[in-house]
Amino acid sequence: MSLRKILTQGDPTLEKTCRPVEKFDQKLHWLLDDLKETLENAGGVGLAAPQIGILRRVVVVEDENGELLELVNPVIVSREGEQGGWEGCLSVPNQYGWVTRPNLVTVRAQDRDGKFFEAAGEEMVARCFCHELEHLDGHLFVEHTDELYTPDEIDAMEAEEGEQEPPKARPQSRKQARKRGKKR
Ligand code: ZN
Repeated sequence: MSLRKILTQGDPTLEKTCRPVEKFDQKLHWLLDDLKETLENAGGVGLAAPQIGILRRVVVVEDENGELLELVNPVIVSREGEQGGWEGCLSVPNQYGWVTRPNLVTVRAQDRDGKFFEAAGEEMVARCFCHELEHLDGHLFVEHTDELYTPDEIDAMEAEEGEQEPPKARPQSRKQARKRGKKR
């Protein structure tokens, strides 16, 4: 296993469409292992292969138990509900935006040996499924938001609001606000 460099916004690799995985071989296993190691080192909650320069449909996503799910050739098979939240990306360092996503998302994918399975995720995991799968088609979360903020700017906005009822486009709780620190 080895740590890989995470590409950042502006790198043309992040704008390309990834190819499906056809061979479930050692090379794929190394890719998955590198994605997991690189993600854990960066302290994020999801990482897609193109973020480390590999144009294949492979992502890893942290589930609600803190385990890393390996998703090969993933597709979203259902979306339910809606959630708003701060979203960031390891490829867009120090920038967060308010993004609306479905609240419950089910994906169908293959595991590292090619076996098909489905995984359902709520809230943060649902958000992460959407975010990571978009990377595979060359899209970044910034396309879903008009404004980007640094963590300091978000803290300043929250301090200004004080104990008042938060406006719609703001985290609904301190817990949710802290989650913005998670990058994908
Ligand atoms: Zn991302």
